[in-house]
Amino acid sequence: MSVTKNQMVELFIEGITSEGNGVGRYQGQAIFVPLTAPGERVQVQIAKVAKQYAYGILRQVLEPAACRIEQDCPVYRSCGGCQLRHITYEEELRQKQQMVADCFARIGKITAEMLPILPSPQTEHYRNKVQFPVQEDSQGKPQIGFFAPRSHRLVAAQNCLLQPTLLNEIAQYCCVLMEKYHIPAYNEQTHKGLVRHIYLRQGYHSGQVLLCLVINGTNLPSGSKFCAGIQQKFPEVCSIVLNINQQKTNVITGTKSVCLVGKEYIQDNMCEVPVQIGPLSFYQVNTPAAEQLYHVAADFAQLKPTDVLLDLYCGMGTIGLSMYHQCKQLIGVEVIPEAVESAWNNAKAMNAENVRFLCADAGTAATQLAKEGLQPSVIVLDPPRKGCDEATLNAVVEMAPERIVMISCNPATAARDVAILCGKGYVAQKIQAADLFPRTKHIETIVQLSRV
Ligand code: SAH
Repeated sequence: MSVTKNQMVELFIEGITSEGNGVGRYQGQAIFVPLTAPGERVQVQIAKVAKQYAYGILRQVLEPAACRIEQDCPVYRSCGGCQLRHITYEEELRQKQQMVADCFARIGKITAEMLPILPSPQTEHYRNKVQFPVQEDSQGKPQIGFFAPRSHRLVAAQNCLLQPTLLNEIAQYCCVLMEKYHIPAYNEQTHKGLVRHIYLRQGYHSGQVLLCLVINGTNLPSGSKFCAGIQQKFPEVCSIVLNINQQKTNVITGTKSVCLVGKEYIQDNMCEVPVQIGPLSFYQVNTPAAEQLYHVAADFAQLKPTDVLLDLYCGMGTIGLSMYHQCKQLIGVEVIPEAVESAWNNAKAMNAENVRFLCADAGTAATQLAKEGLQPSVIVLDPPRKGCDEATLNAVVEMAPERIVMISCNPATAARDVAILCGKGYVAQKIQAADLFPRTKHIETIVQLSRV
């Protein structure tokens, strides 16, 4: 018998899913409930019923779990950016370790050594990037916040705990200046107005800040006054860029950027690699945690001075460049042209000569490199959430590297892809989860594979 909508049920929460929801069972049926903690008894109102499962809303915690903690963010329930603020960080790590272990056991049927999860050095204010949507409030004033889950309703959030305080303050001050200079916020319904997103990036080591206004237009009225106001109050802001996005779209940035102040990028470094960070390239959001991850990647790669390293999905080239001194030659492949340009510049800044970056689809480039007879000793794969495609995995196997290091922000697709490689002559040696995204459901995984 299934539950029905609005029914009140009492549940014992057994665990947390990869979506960050608590899960309990009612007469055998799985019920997913956001904001619940494993080990507690709760009263839940059923909100949505599907065939095999249902979703519920937490109405009351009847017996709290020992890991439950006070919620420290006023918009935690409505914003949707964090899913795990109501449990201790220790429990969060335990759950994430379990999520990764489950994916590899269930999806991948893989039995490799599971190393203990790497915690993030910082659990708050750790993000070096924030993209605030901007809308007018009921008085017509611009305000920043985040879109509530699966909606475009703005939840005002001025002091997000995941962002550095400085970035929150700069974004708030942008709203003050927008009001002062009559720069309108964008309105999605009417497709009128100008400023869609306030997008900020900060170099963790350099402190430099890039401010990018994503606009539904081609120029910023009172632009020079606006920039002067920002720079006067926040000397950390080295670059101010307009990104043009005049499409009716959910995609945040457009492809064209115009620089108002400084260069189109800021400078930082990661694992001693100098990096140019522009608005359009992927860059790991939690620098010190990503540096730990890169150290694990180097440890898993076990490079020798005679080795050739192929870094697929290389972004700005940071992983490969951080291992450059341990090998003979580095080839990186990345599909976003701006990221490839930064990768070349990063290599130049560290005088790395035996380096090549190809701007191409990973599968196409890997297939071509395999055809040319390239035989890298090690291949690093760091695909986006959807994982690698078949062409990429086939070409990787064709090139027959001694080791493969698979890095992924989605343990489910990582387990799937690792399983495919295991069916083609590789064996997974070690799996390590690394928390790059504290207080959220997201988790990074890194796997070492070696050729049988
Ligand atoms: N290794 C980098 C980036 C990892 S994120 C780092 O650690 O910073 C994944 C990268 O894959 C992004 O830069 C994205 O632009 C790129 N990408 C996505 N699809 C791709 C494809 N089909 N071919 C090549 N690169 C792709």
